[in-house]
Amino acid sequence: MDITELTVHELIEKKKAGKLTSEEIVKAYTKRIEEKEKDIDAFITITTDEALKTAKEKDKEGLKGDLDGIPIGIKDNINVKGTKTTCASKMLENFVSPYDATVTEKLNEAGLISLGKMNMDEFAMGSSTENSAMKVTHNPWNLNTVPGGSSGGSAAAVAANEVPWALGSDTGGSIREPAAFCGIVGLKPTYGLVSRYGLVAFASSLDQIGPLTKDVEDAALLLNVIAGHDEKDSTSYNREKVDYTKALKNDVKGLKIGVPKEFYAEGLNEEVKKALENAIEEYKKLGAIIEDCSVDVAKYSLATYYIIACAEASSNLGRFDGIRYGYRTKNYETLNELFKNSRSEGFGPEVKRRIILGTYVLSSGYYDAYYKKAQQVRTFVSQEFEKAFSKYDVLLTPVSPNVAFEINSKVSDPLEMYLADVCTVPVNIGSVPAISLPCGVTSKGMPIGMQLIGPRFSEETLLNAAYTFEQKIKFRENHKPEFKK
Ligand code: GLN
Repeated sequence: MDITELTVHELIEKKKAGKLTSEEIVKAYTKRIEEKEKDIDAFITITTDEALKTAKEKDKEGLKGDLDGIPIGIKDNINVKGTKTTCASKMLENFVSPYDATVTEKLNEAGLISLGKMNMDEFAMGSSTENSAMKVTHNPWNLNTVPGGSSGGSAAAVAANEVPWALGSDTGGSIREPAAFCGIVGLKPTYGLVSRYGLVAFASSLDQIGPLTKDVEDAALLLNVIAGHDEKDSTSYNREKVDYTKALKNDVKGLKIGVPKEFYAEGLNEEVKKALENAIEEYKKLGAIIEDCSVDVAKYSLATYYIIACAEASSNLGRFDGIRYGYRTKNYETLNELFKNSRSEGFGPEVKRRIILGTYVLSSGYYDAYYKKAQQVRTFVSQEFEKAFSKYDVLLTPVSPNVAFEINSKVSDPLEMYLADVCTVPVNIGSVPAISLPCGVTSKGMPIGMQLIGPRFSEETLLNAAYTFEQKIKFRENHKPEFKK
């Protein structure tokens, strides 16, 4: 048995039956990381030595809950006390976190052990993980292609069995797009379901932390751990706790699924389209009620997103001034030069582009024309979703118009890169949840993702709809990454 092939729910079964210790699990992953990391480059910081020590202690004390002693990978914009949180930026290259994020505390309470911090686009800005100041991560299905972004390290590591599961963050698609590119499951929870305390802010009104996992059951398990109200995050929602694994009924009879034509517009790869049509047929066979519909959000959301996200980023990133924490230039005489040079040298090109754009749309002469307008469109997007969800339980769309693209093929064209998010950003703009799961492969063997979107707090419906499909097509059993060179 190769331990690293197992899902987390399978690991739990083996652990309960007394067939696996935490030490054995962590050792298997350590070995796998040693073997695969040279091809994948998914980690910024590897903490397997500490993990092994913790695993031994846990075994000695006796493992308590289901998840006690199970490892995990954490995106490098989530604070883990005593470990570097770099956000893949030179700005925070040597920043050691003095505290745990709320999600990290929750992982610790559940007994999970971090194997390390995962590569990402700098400050989570990007769709390919190529904006990392540290390294380029490779997609395990084809090493010449990107893993998607910005949670590309998390997704590639799960797909390559370097970690059993991982946390990512999603501001405009950064969990779902890399999940789709790497053939795994990614869930963007409803805004407010998971605390953002200790997540380095990119665009605060859009950011959510969520799971990247091998299958839907694991996504439900990890959401159980991280969801819940947090006093330290004023935007976190106070609602009763749910056991998401109980929602997995393997039954979608009567489920009303809308297929919004606007998400299948020009530019959609033919093979992606075909795979989605097949998925729709599968759902019909499973007894779901499918209807074509119109949800006119895709074409406005991308522009709205890049105004709101940049505006919020320009404000959030103001704190990196070379004084309080992070990178400080050696090259200054005046205070102004200290600010300016620290920021010029510490931030990469994409981050600077967004700060400039964000400052522009918030400036007094342009505020009404851009920022205010974008907020109005945002309300419109929410209303469009509300209208759609008065008729349908879920919407079925592509995750991205394309599959994983070649490394270096889009970095020089930011607009082209932004287009990879056209199907995912409406979800963040509308504050609703969505899940991304594999639904097929292209003729070249690259995974294709499908997105299911639901109304606020419909995670149970989404997980069940995804689970039922997954049980039917058995993607993991039929397709494996080949580490093609
Ligand atoms: N790719 C999008 C961007 O560049 C989304 C990023 C994200 O979700 N963090 O902003």
